[in-house]
Parts: sequence; structure tokens; C-alpha cells
Amino acid sequence: MVNLTIDGRPIGVPPGTTVLEAAQWLGIKIPTMCHVPGIEPASSCFLCAVQIEGRRTLSPACGMPVAEGMAVVTGSADVRAARKMALELLLSDHAGECVAPCAAQCPAGLDIPGFVHGIATGDNRRSMEVIAERLALPGSLGRICPRLCERQCRRSDLDQGLAIGALHRYVADLAHFTPPRAPSTGKRVAIVGAGPAGLAAAYYLAKNGHDCTLFDAHALPGGMLRYGIPANRLPKDALDAEIDAIRRLGARFRMGERWGEDFTLAGLRQRHDAVFVAIGAQRAQGLRCEGEEHALAGIEFLERVAGGNSSPLGNDVAVVGGGNTAMDCARSAVRLGARNVRVIYRRSRQEMPCLMEEVEAAEAEGVRIELLVAPVRLERNGGSLLLTCRRMTLGEPDVSGRRQPVELDGSDFTMECSTVVAAIGQSVDRSLAEREGLEVTAWGIAADERTFATNLPGVFAGGDGVLGADLAVRAVAAGRMAAAAIHQFLSGQAVTGEAAMTAIAMRPIDDAERAEMFRAIERAARVHAPEIPMERRVASFDEVENRLLDADAVREARRCLTCGCRKADCCLVRTLATEYGVDVYRFAGARRRFSQDLSHPEVIYEPGKCICCDACVRIAAAADEEPGLAMIGRGFDVAVGVPFGQPLSIGLRKVARECAEACPTGALALRTARSCDACSLGG
Ligand SMILES: Cc1cc2nc3c(=O)[nH]c(=O)nc-3n(C[C@H](O)[C@H](O)[C@H](O)COP(=O)(O)OP(=O)(O)OC[C@H]3O[C@@H](n4cnc5c(N)ncnc54)[C@H](O)[C@@H]3O)c2cc1C
Ligand code: SF4
Ligand code: SF4
Ligand code: SF4
Repeated sequence: MVNLTIDGRPIGVPPGTTVLEAAQWLGIKIPTMCHVPGIEPASSCFLCAVQIEGRRTLSPACGMPVAEGMAVVTGSADVRAARKMALELLLSDHAGECVAPCAAQCPAGLDIPGFVHGIATGDNRRSMEVIAERLALPGSLGRICPRLCERQCRRSDLDQGLAIGALHRYVADLAHFTPPRAPSTGKRVAIVGAGPAGLAAAYYLAKNGHDCTLFDAHALPGGMLRYGIPANRLPKDALDAEIDAIRRLGARFRMGERWGEDFTLAGLRQRHDAVFVAIGAQRAQGLRCEGEEHALAGIEFLERVAGGNSSPLGNDVAVVGGGNTAMDCARSAVRLGARNVRVIYRRSRQEMPCLMEEVEAAEAEGVRIELLVAPVRLERNGGSLLLTCRRMTLGEPDVSGRRQPVELDGSDFTMECSTVVAAIGQSVDRSLAEREGLEVTAWGIAADERTFATNLPGVFAGGDGVLGADLAVRAVAAGRMAAAAIHQFLSGQAVTGEAAMTAIAMRPIDDAERAEMFRAIERAARVHAPEIPMERRVASFDEVENRLLDADAVREARRCLTCGCRKADCCLVRTLATEYGVDVYRFAGARRRFSQDLSHPEVIYEPGKCICCDACVRIAAAADEEPGLAMIGRGFDVAVGVPFGQPLSIGLRKVARECAEACPTGALALRTARSCDACSLGG
């Protein structure tokens, strides 16, 4: 036997054993990408580099035989730095994208191809399970989310982007889904605010077995989804169905209780193990001009509309602002019978912060959009109001990147209005938070970006209350991420926030690569959800857009190209890149070109992801595959291929599956591979 030490632990092994094998016997993990058990190592990926006492340079553990008295160190700073650099070099020319471009843009990181696949194959329950991993309130968000994902859908380079929002609304409406709840932990969490952020936090905390109570000043939960966004965009029964799922998970609601009046943060902290503050941005901003007190605040108007008790508006309604609140106010005014509804916005259409679809819908309903106009004075004139406005032009971009409005002298004009609505924006009431010892920023409550922890131990904060008025999907994502950090806090772990995997994206794709991607794809137009007729639209708060028809939903889901890597969840390069904190673009140079060999019935080969570990070549050779595989090309362009440029279907006839399973990256992957259960590397 040969005696040596690895990380100070003694071991005796038979002669000829490698350092890698000896470490494995001791249970010490040394990463390797090229090692295939039972197959002779060829070259080394150098991921298994270790330090051997007395040697000046690092050595690969996979090819290094043990020696008497050897002292091996596997995790020193030098070793880690070498592995990190080896990974960065491997990724420097990688032609792959771990995550689909759509999913990379969703603030909640929803696995879009994963849930869409469920719909395409008629497995709506599976689809909901995938959604529930990342997204609370998918039915509500499917209706109102600005769908940042769809803008990046690869399919839009071919014909039209996928209707992603409509698809998750479809499946959420159909498959009422409550995820299983873990056994009770006995830990109590108070959540202040039952808007999307608070609801999402409750969903994920309750799922983990924590006892959650939501405290909210309003009579019903939902926050701005209930009291801001009108029913024509988000019917309240759809919202209620999603809140019911959170109730079924065990969350309790204490409605009509206001922080600062009915309870204090200090009191909550005494009675609970953790607190999540999600109070949103509830304070309406005024018109910022003389006579602003005569205007109706947009969110107060919408709250009255939601409660069915709006006072008469008259015929001539002017709504000042260019965001979602302004559009919702204008479209509500139309539904309440006003005949002349104008939206007044001080910049151009391009700078409007709301979705262009909303502007188009408002215009279709008869709303006039007056651009480059700002209010300067509002005064009472008997029973009506006189609104004086000034025309604007656009100057240099401001900090937000939008061109700043500049007043045009002598351009004032006056309009007579029955009602003026100020829908300029909302801000966070920070005074209460400050009084209770929470630190604040210019926008809201100060909280850590990853953990959502505030300066007070055990108190976390997220959503609009931290960011200022923003988007529901970001609030829902914040709720989930805060829940992960609160779970760590409650279970005595280090509070580091939700684990995120490193991802590489395909840097700009050129026309030839695009053509290669779409080679086998037929063009197909995007489906559209049915809408109610215009007469009903403007005369009621009935939902304008209906759920996709079943056949259309399946047809739309089948348009998805299932972008992203087939081995995203189990690729060893990605896993190690995450573990070693790799900067995936550190040595980025000219990357390989995207190409795919789709000739094989069982596996797909993407040479741009090959890291030349040689594993598949050796497996094919050991199985006497003829012609098998070989390393082809020179220098940086070397990659696996079938000799004489033949397709993979010729090269691999016996061990295609074994090669795909051994491949440490998504270069060789089973056609069916999408998640860890599909390949042997998983877990
Ligand atoms: C009119 C309008 C239209 C919008 N349209 C869209 C859209 O189309 N798409 C989109 O993505 N986003 C939209 N938004 C933004 C979106 O609604 C918000 O980003 C989201 O609701 C923020 O969630 P939140 O949970 O952080 O806060 P909120 O939804 O504001 O919820 C906060 C909750 O805290 C409670 N609360 C506040 N203070 C206290 C207190 N002191 N004590 C107890 N409870 C308290 C409130 O009652 C409320 O229920 C819109 C917003 C408005 C106002
Ligand atoms: S939540 Fe919004 S951004 Fe995310 S997938 Fe749905 S529509 Fe897209
Ligand atoms: S085709 Fe599918 S996976 Fe690809 S970007 Fe579009 S929605 Fe995402
Ligand atoms: S294709 Fe073969 S050589 Fe390339 S990374 Fe995969 S297993 Fe290694």
C-alpha cells in the first residue's frame, strides 16, 4: 500500500491509484470534467488541479499516481484560483445560452420554456408546478404584466414573439393549483401589506411550513391589484382565486389593521420571529402646479371605482400623466360615461412609461392623448374647472435616459373640464418607517438587494415600498426572494438570499446563425386572445381580453422553440462556474459559431458548447463505434466531430445515450433532456 495525506487526512491505497481516486475514497470532492470512470484519462481539463507539497506547480489529480509520503492539498487559494481561471478560459468562446432569452428577462426568472412545454404536451398540472416554483399570482400577472419577456423572445426574429403572459394566465385560470405545504416549523412571520409582494412572500413562506399573518389597512387583500388596477384589466374574482390558494396554504389575513395606528413594528417583532414589510407606494403625487388641490388623485379615484362608489365625473375629464395609473383613470372615466376624456402628458409618446398596448386600447375606446403638454394652473370656474396648460418640446435626456420636457414660452392655453385627475405617480410614505427605526432611501425603505434585510434584525422589506412605484412582477419576485432569505433566517442558516446560478448568454447572433437556428422551424403566426366587443367594453368594467381558447393555447405553446440549454440544470461547467464565482465573460473573445447536428434520433450535438474533454470520444472508442468520434480541427477551433464530416447519426450507433450522459456540458444532450431527471449528471 502507498501511504499519503490529502488535506491532512492519512490514507493507504494500492500502487497505481490516482490522487483523484484516493481523494474520492476519502470523500473529498475534486471537480473534474474529463474523467470518465473506467476509461483511461487522455488530456486534463485542469479542473482537478491540486497542490502537492514540494512541487512548485499545480498537478492534475486525474492523471497523477499516488506516491509514498505524498501530501496533497485540494482546496487552497491557489488551487481555487487555478480552477476559476480554467473555467473562465473554457467559457471564453462558449456558444451557448444557459437560460432562454425570454426567461432571462422575466424579473421573476420564470422557467418559460418549461411551463410552456407543459401546455404544449397537454400537461397543465406540470405547467403549474413549474410556474409555482418562481411565480406567485401567475393568473393576475398574465393579465397585467408588461411582459418584458416577450420583447426578447427568439421567435420574434422569425415571425412574432410568443404570447407568454397569455399562456400563464391560461394555465393558471384552468388549473387552480395549491402547492404542497411542508410540515409546520412553529415559526411565526408577520407580513405588513397584502399586496403582490406580501402575498408572494406569504405563499413561499407558508409553503415552507412557516406560520404567516398578513396585516393590511384595506378591507380586502391584493394591494394595487385590487384597489388600483380596474376590473377591465384584472377581474377581482381572478385575483381572489389566487389569494384563496395562499389562504389554503395556511396564511391568515388581518384586514383593516393599519401599521402606525392599530399596531407598531416593535410590537410585531415581539410577537413574531420575523417581519416582512411590503407597504407599497400608496401616496399620490400632486399636479405640482397652482390649484393642484382641485384635482382628484388618480389612485383615490381608482379605489373608489374599485369599490363601486365613484362620484359623477361630468363629461370633460382631463387625466394628467403618462403611466399605467393615467391610462387606467382615463379608461375608467370612459366606462363611467364621460364623453370627452383626454390624457395630458408632458413628453412624447415614446417616453410614456406605460405599455403602448394600453395607450392603443385607451385610444380605441375614445381617449385622446395630448402629448408635449403640461399643466401650469388649475382653478375653479363656477361648477367647472379651468385647466391652463403649456406646450413643451423635448430637450436633453435626464437621468432616466428620457428626453426632458422644455417649456415653450407663450404657448399657454386653457381648457374647461368637469374633472381633472392627477395621475402623475405614487411615492412611499417613509415617515412611519423612519419613526420605527428603519433606514430609508430616496425611494423607500432601505433593504439589501439580495436578502431584503433591513437595518433591524429579523425585519425584511420588499416591493414598491422599497423600490418606489414599480411593477407587480418585480414585487412578486421580491416577495419570493425575501421569503427565501427569511426562511434562512428562521432556520438558523446564513442569510445569503436565494441561490442564483451563473449563466452565460449567447453574445450577438448573426444572420447565418439565426438561419441555422430556424432551419427546421416553420413560420406560424402568434395566436390572439378573444376580446369582448367595443360596445360592451366602453359601457362596463367587464374584462376586455378573455382566456385563450384551448386549441389556441396548445398551438401557441407549440410555437415555443424551447431555447436555453438542455442541460441548464445539470451542466457541470455551469455548476462549477457558480461554485467558483466565475466571471463568465472575463476572457470573452471571439466565440464559436452556433451550429447544431440534428441528424441523430436520440441526441443533439452543438459543437459550440464542446469543451474538448474527450469523454465521448473515449466512450465511443471503448464501445468500438465505427467510425465513432474524434477531435477535429486545430487550435481554438478544435471540437468533437465524426471523421470525414459525416453526421452524428453515422458516428454514434451504439453509445449515443452514454456519450450524452457523460458529456459535462450541453454539447451532447438527449433530445428529451430538459431537466436533471433526464441525464445522469443531475442532482
Ligand atoms: C393604477 C395602477 C395601475 C398599475 N398597472 C400595472 C400594470 O399594468 N402592470 C404592472 O406590472 N404593475 C402595475 N402597477 C404597479 C403594481 O400594481 C405595483 O407595482 C404592485 O402592486 C406593488 O406591489 P406591493 O405589494 O409592493 O405594493 P401594493 O400593491 O401597493 O400593496 C401594498 C399593501 O400594503 C398595505 N399598506 C400600506 N401601508 C400600510 C400600513 N401602514 N398598514 C397596513 N397596511 C398598509 C396597502 O393597503 C396595500 O394592500 C399599477 C399600479 C397602479 C397604481
Ligand atoms: S411574469 Fe411577466 S415577464 Fe415574467 S414570464 Fe410572465 S409575462 Fe413574462
Ligand atoms: S421561443 Fe420559447 S423559449 Fe425561446 S425565447 Fe421565445 S418563449 Fe422563450
Ligand atoms: S461533446 Fe464530447 S468532448 Fe465535447 S464536451 Fe461533450 S463529452 Fe466532452
